[in-house]
Amino acid sequence: MLRQRAHEQGLYPAPLNEGRSRNMQANRRANTKPETMLRSALHRRGLRFRKDLLLRLEGVGRVRPDIVFTARKVAVFVDGCFWHVCPQHGRYPATNDWYWSPKLRRNMERDQTVNSALRDAGWCVIRIWEHEDLDRAVSTVEGAVRASIEHIFEATGDPRQSPAAAAEAGGLRVGDGVSPAS
Ligand SMILES: [Zn+2]
Repeated sequence: MLRQRAHEQGLYPAPLNEGRSRNMQANRRANTKPETMLRSALHRRGLRFRKDLLLRLEGVGRVRPDIVFTARKVAVFVDGCFWHVCPQHGRYPATNDWYWSPKLRRNMERDQTVNSALRDAGWCVIRIWEHEDLDRAVSTVEGAVRASIEHIFEATGDPRQSPAAAAEAGGLRVGDGVSPAS
């Protein structure tokens, strides 16, 4: 039941094949998945990124963030409230506790490990709960990407993009709710 619900929300990894992937475009449910909505919104804002890019991290192995800005080293994960145990909606299921609790705990631990490994490797990590407001999520991601651009411009001494100018141009408070990679 839980698995079925999660599956419907796109949170459970469904077995995909080529034909099914192609059908996804026509699948309304797939297009209302939180990560899909965020990708579309970012794309409309003119941001270009890789989706589901496989990263290999030392000591952690393979990690596949939902959205990756490779040049900026910004990795975005859209976390399901159930699977990643969000403080508002994450609940340990009452039944099958012997199976679910360790699994959810492992997920949470893995998230922490992945965050640390990515940050150690110079990435800015953004985690967005699936329940989060879309506009807010877009601002967070956009702010992080801009902050990392400024980082590069600052490093090269290019005066065209001061943080204040970029913030004004984008109507954003730079760094709002994010921790740019240092
Ligand atoms: Zn939630």
